[in-house]
Amino acid sequence: MHELALAQSVVRIVEEEAARRDVNAVTAVILEVGALSCVDPHALDFSFGAATRGTIAAGASLKIERTAGAARCFDCDREVEVTTRAAACPHCGSHKLMITGGDDLRVKAVEVN
Ligand SMILES: [Zn+2]
Repeated sequence: MHELALAQSVVRIVEEEAARRDVNAVTAVILEVGALSCVDPHALDFSFGAATRGTIAAGASLKIERTAGAARCFDCDREVEVTTRAAACPHCGSHKLMITGGDDLRVKAVEVN
């Protein structure tokens, strides 16, 4: 159900974008999903189909782009890329990392015809 709620908020963003650009049909939505976001892309894709029914985005395809997670290492004080929350710092091996990005989901682009 987590993914359905996400899909519904994506649809709201897409509807606002479509209204702002004065378009009648949305063909695709490109979504950036952070590697640390705990979102299941398959469940999200399925939920997107359900959430768009009867909206301007009905029939639109969902393109999911995974983005890397970002963290700051407390030990060597560098910004690092991580793929999981349990990852160690690639520079010094420390586990004292603070996640700074890649844990969210963002509508990157809306394709219209
Ligand atoms: Zn480090």
